Amino acid sequence: MFINGKWITRKDFEIRNPYDSTIIGAIPLLSREETKHAIAIASKNKIFMKNLPINKRYKLLMGIANKLNSQKHAFAKIISMDVGKPIKQSLSEVDKTINEFELSAFYSKEMRGETIPIDNGIILTKKEPIGVVGAITPFNFPLSLISHKIGPAIAAGNCVVLHPSPKAPLAAVELTKLIEETLNELNIELGVFTLLTGKGEVVGDEISKNEKINMVSFTGSNIVGESIIKNAGIKKVSLELGGNNPMIVLKDSNIEKAAISAVFSKFLNSGQVCISVGVVFIEEPKADEFIKYVLENVKKLIIGNPLEDKTNIGPLITKESAERVETIIRESIESNGKLLFGGECEGNTIYPTVLEITSNNILSKIEVFGPVLPIVRVSNADEAIKYANNTEYGLQAGIYTNDINKAMELSMELEYGGVMINNSPTFRQDNMPFGGIKKSGLRREGTKYTIDEMTELKTIVIHNA
Ligand code: NAP
Repeated sequence: MFINGKWITRKDFEIRNPYDSTIIGAIPLLSREETKHAIAIASKNKIFMKNLPINKRYKLLMGIANKLNSQKHAFAKIISMDVGKPIKQSLSEVDKTINEFELSAFYSKEMRGETIPIDNGIILTKKEPIGVVGAITPFNFPLSLISHKIGPAIAAGNCVVLHPSPKAPLAAVELTKLIEETLNELNIELGVFTLLTGKGEVVGDEISKNEKINMVSFTGSNIVGESIIKNAGIKKVSLELGGNNPMIVLKDSNIEKAAISAVFSKFLNSGQVCISVGVVFIEEPKADEFIKYVLENVKKLIIGNPLEDKTNIGPLITKESAERVETIIRESIESNGKLLFGGECEGNTIYPTVLEITSNNILSKIEVFGPVLPIVRVSNADEAIKYANNTEYGLQAGIYTNDINKAMELSMELEYGGVMINNSPTFRQDNMPFGGIKKSGLRREGTKYTIDEMTELKTIVIHNA
């Protein structure tokens, strides 16, 4: 597609709006040979990028941020049409993306090393770019998840080879046009940035295996993450994978606020968010009140055209995704899950669904990736912790309580990469370390933390002459 400054514009694969199935674009599906050729060209620009003056990296990142800012609404519309995401949520994604490029620009000037004293000399450490970063991204945040990788990669002085999800590639294509424009303005080699569209099993697979790629930065499902680890050989791999993020609501908390937060968390982007709340554990004495507030707020959600301001819930990305979620709802009900609201499926839209379940129900452990909120009554915080840790995932968790000592105690016991106190698990700020433990991933993102992952530490030891 965009290889060494040249565009390939074949229309091998039609992109459809998941809301109404209209064709909204087309992309080339690159072959393995084309992918290998593109990676070989990208790797030739490693030295150029390593030596690019820091001020130019800064200007490149700020230039991208400024251009995005002036086309905010156009980008939001593309995201909504490509993913089916309600337009207000798409606008907020564009804002987050601008912020990531600005933060990356800032940190490009903050690549500090250390000095370590030794007898008769000194040790210096210096962060050096890793080389070529292969970035592979999913469909659900098709702009911001890309920026989490390419912003820090450029800040650190790396070349980037990007493979966006073919389910929603159009924001990546438009972003590449902004990057091309900015590279041209600054007279920087166009080959430092490469966009490769195609099927993950071909393009993504080649990026993972190719020896000229120095690091694979992947966000997506566990099944693909595991195949990347097997294919990568001796190269750095970072994995941001799935989660079933619990939210524990204790009886002393503000129950209405917790319920509103759970509804926001679960139904954002129709539940297609890696840090969407997977299950709520509510202390029994307040369970009825919590459920009442949840249902009140779920009933207010407006399902409809993602391009309309009033819409809260759009379709899932594909019909297959909706069928998968519908099956999970059915299986949950068959194993004694009580349907409190919703449960219907129409085309690829799943209506907002709330279930009351017990801790052994399928919904308490898996990642649904759809608008389904399961609630479990627990007798106390210890029971909530036991159930919350009983999953193979470990991305983020939330705790609602007014007792800070209790909140700290539970935070220490939760086996999760991040714990949000008095919030849902759906909190991510670009400058915080973000990532999971257990099967939710490897390494951390968050601008300065990603830069650390995308650099190698060189040690220089100076002995007195
Ligand atoms: P996915 O199916 O894993 O796809 C992610 C990317 O990997 C796509 O570009 C895909 O291309 C590509 N791919 C497929 N097979 C590959 C292979 N063998 N080698 C290399 N790349 C390959 O995920 P998705 O359905 O787009 O996104 C949903 C998943 O992402 C959920 O599990 C969610 O939790 C996770 N996610 C995690 C985070 C996080 O930060 N932890 C954030 C967002 C999403 P194709 O589409 O052609 O297969």
